[in-house]
Amino acid sequence: MSERVIKDDQPRVYFDCNKCPAFCCSIYERVVVTKRDITRLAKHFGVSFEEARERYTADFEGERVLKRVKDKIFEKTCMFLDQKTRGCTIYHGRPAVCRSYPGRSRCAYYDVLRFERSSQGDESVIPLIKITFHEVEEETEEYADGPERVYEWDEK
Ligand code: SF4
Ligand code: SF4
Repeated sequence: MSERVIKDDQPRVYFDCNKCPAFCCSIYERVVVTKRDITRLAKHFGVSFEEARERYTADFEGERVLKRVKDKIFEKTCMFLDQKTRGCTIYHGRPAVCRSYPGRSRCAYYDVLRFERSSQGDESVIPLIKITFHEVEEETEEYADGPERVYEWDEK
């Protein structure tokens, strides 16, 4: 008997972007764009590199990022998200970082969505996740009963 070979070029994933309110397009303050991404955006909209850079990107702490707008669900979202369908309106022109996200078989935000919908018994509920990053310093303090690890950070 010959050995059966199962071929599957599509890696299995455990999330469905079509059933998600687009956390990844909304909760990060920065969706970084490279020069190549801006060139792709310029081509997508039929404008010059400079026009695309000016119209669709902004400076965020020294990095070039996609512009954001007020959102119906989260505080803000990417200017290219369709706020009704929660889909990307420039799918073929989207930046590389959007193409590769989340880069693994599970999406943590989709897992939270599924977990909360199941816990609340409500398939329409959306957990309002917010994510920020802080520089954290780890120190070891000496106390009478021994050393203890403490974390210190500045609120932004
Ligand atoms: S947060 Fe995850 S599941 Fe939702 S749209 Fe982004 S990648 Fe897809
Ligand atoms: S370009 Fe599209 S996929 Fe990328 S953050 Fe914006 S809406 Fe989401």
